[in-house]
Amino acid sequence: MQLTTNSLNQLPTPCYCYDLSLLRSTLNVIKEETKDYPFIVHYALKANANPKILKEIVHAGLGADLVSGNEVKAALDAGFAPGMMAYAGVGKNDWEIETGVDNNIYCFNVESVPEMEVINEIAARHSKTAGIAIRVNPNIDAHTHRYITTGTTENKFGIDIPVLDEVVDKALSLPHIHLRGLHFHIGSQITDMEPYRLLCEKINELLDHYEGRGITFEMIDVGGGLGIDYENPEEHTIAPFKDFFDVFKQNLNTRQGQKVHFELGRSIVAQCGALVSRVLFVKENSAKKFVILDAGMTDLIRPALYNANHKIVNLTSQSASQASYDVVGPICESSDVFAQDLALPLTKRGDLVAILSAGAYGESMASRYNMRDLPHCHFIE
Ligand SMILES: *Cc1c(COP(=O)(O)O)cnc(C)c1O
Repeated sequence: MQLTTNSLNQLPTPCYCYDLSLLRSTLNVIKEETKDYPFIVHYALKANANPKILKEIVHAGLGADLVSGNEVKAALDAGFAPGMMAYAGVGKNDWEIETGVDNNIYCFNVESVPEMEVINEIAARHSKTAGIAIRVNPNIDAHTHRYITTGTTENKFGIDIPVLDEVVDKALSLPHIHLRGLHFHIGSQITDMEPYRLLCEKINELLDHYEGRGITFEMIDVGGGLGIDYENPEEHTIAPFKDFFDVFKQNLNTRQGQKVHFELGRSIVAQCGALVSRVLFVKENSAKKFVILDAGMTDLIRPALYNANHKIVNLTSQSASQASYDVVGPICESSDVFAQDLALPLTKRGDLVAILSAGAYGESMASRYNMRDLPHCHFIE
């Protein structure tokens, strides 16, 4: 993304800057890679639900992947079609289910039998039939951070394959449930395509098995999780969508008329956002130099929560010499650190610093801890 100090000098900080033209280019690549295939891409709102970002994504024709009742409402407000909405999550409140049922969303991704029974009950009370997909735990290790691995039997997510038959039979027996298909989501920030190939094999086995039992599904939802390049964001501004979709084009044996749904969050919005911050102080002690920013873990929690690394650049300094700094935030927590021993051009109070690849799970995870204000935001066309 293009960030110049001239355009940013007046910005209130900390501030999320979003490059809308990069977002549009990203959405165009997705459109190109999925056309001519029965592929439907949903955007996972939890990555970033900024209304201006949602507007671009609605305009590109994507569906919505939702994980709370308020996300269902935000998606409706943004103009996503209810017939393009999937609602996932291990714990859905009754009012959240009602919101989905009332608005005739395409599908609830169901994670347990008790949940399915409650959806059936609520749909009956509203004289409706709720579309569902059963979230299957395929027991595939996505080789990503343990907090964002979701598809192994150690995780709280989904139904294990050994009991899937029973759960499918249960779904088929409930009068106010319409079973649309199976749902999978194996994790996030996945950069190796092999787990997705293994997922396709698992799905093919399941499709054969259910075909043998006379059961066909109108769709298969393979989830999201495609990773992005946090180390070299300037070289890889757009995620490797071709590699990702090719895995499914080449390995998934979909049946006649069957749709394949995808739920992408991070890969759509991460690179179009940067968190821009001002240097408050440069502090030296006997061991270290610290760059203390006005942005902290309340604005971008990924480094503190997942040990995530974001590339950091000083937008102001013209210095030819460098120094090694720990880049930290102002919050009263020792984990409020963005980088350690990072080489930056000589940095001083007032410099603008950009933390790159912050468009996903940045603003959406911001909190008011320490009674701080939420970050500002700014859009670059
Ligand atoms: C978070 C989530 C996604 C999106 O994951 P990304 O890594 O952002 O692509 C998709 N589906 C489900 C069920 C999720 O929980």
